[in-house]
Amino acid sequence: MGGGAFRCGCRRVPAAGFAFNCSRNAVGALSSTNTPRFCRGELLPWLARFLRRWAPVCLKLHVLASGSKGNAAIVENAATGEGLLIDCGLCKRDFLARAAEAGFDVRRLRGVLVTHAHSDHTKCLGVVLRSLAKEGVRVPLYAHPETVRESGPLQQVRDDGLAELRPLAAGDVLGLAGMQVHPFATSHDAAVSFGFRVECEGEALGYLTDSGCVSAAAHEALSGVRLLALESNHCPSMLKTCGYPYYLQQRIASDEGHLSNSQAADELAALLHPGLEAVVAMHVSQESNTYVIPRRTLGQVLADAGHSAQLSVALQQQLVSL
Ligand SMILES: [Zn+2]
Ligand SMILES: [Zn+2]
Repeated sequence: MGGGAFRCGCRRVPAAGFAFNCSRNAVGALSSTNTPRFCRGELLPWLARFLRRWAPVCLKLHVLASGSKGNAAIVENAATGEGLLIDCGLCKRDFLARAAEAGFDVRRLRGVLVTHAHSDHTKCLGVVLRSLAKEGVRVPLYAHPETVRESGPLQQVRDDGLAELRPLAAGDVLGLAGMQVHPFATSHDAAVSFGFRVECEGEALGYLTDSGCVSAAAHEALSGVRLLALESNHCPSMLKTCGYPYYLQQRIASDEGHLSNSQAADELAALLHPGLEAVVAMHVSQESNTYVIPRRTLGQVLADAGHSAQLSVALQQQLVSL
């Protein structure tokens, strides 16, 4: 991965009357004039919201921590109280405290999903799984074999018998905690990396972090969801002037790095639909972004479209629940 013009296999399939690719030159190419509009006068969105208000929701998302210092999130099946853990780069004390704050009983965990091998997603798996084992909780851990090969913490989990390791690959359909999990490939500088679409009782959640661009397959996996967790990692101008070494700035900005605020805004604009209820900006950098900029950037997308989805920004040090 070098400098120059970054291109990846993420060329967006033309959809909804517009197209763009994820080369950095194309970032921000969408203008508000070709962003799909949410018509305030349409009856259908109003009806969808009205019906949803009276329908019990199945899916909840608890982002325990998000950012380059550690990531962990729980997807809860609200009907049963069971759930899945996505990644664990959060120390045992904070993991247990934030899960309790979310009202989630960790004894109801039914599986762990690992997006990729980077330490901010894996470094605390061992200590957390060991702690859960003391509570009598032993859950399967789903990770791609290449992720296990790349990750010391995962090898430790395997060697210490803290979890039964099961393979995970794009295109799989996993039935866990009464939910269906659909992993999809992301574009990141790990051997393999994944996002997830989780479905339950006719509703869906999309989860995408650690991806330098959004492939057509990832976009499809994120479409039509009620809850959307979408990376909004950096502000390109802040990235250029932050203290990171040049090679790291290049890595983050590349198609195998992280989504910028404007890339996240473009993707959100392309994903808007009447049933989208909540969006959370994920993996926000504390060095090359602020918590204000993603809120303003993604908020503008919703405002331009007259969309009423709730917008949150996931934090490094505090729980955010949808
Ligand atoms: Zn990360
Ligand atoms: Zn990563």
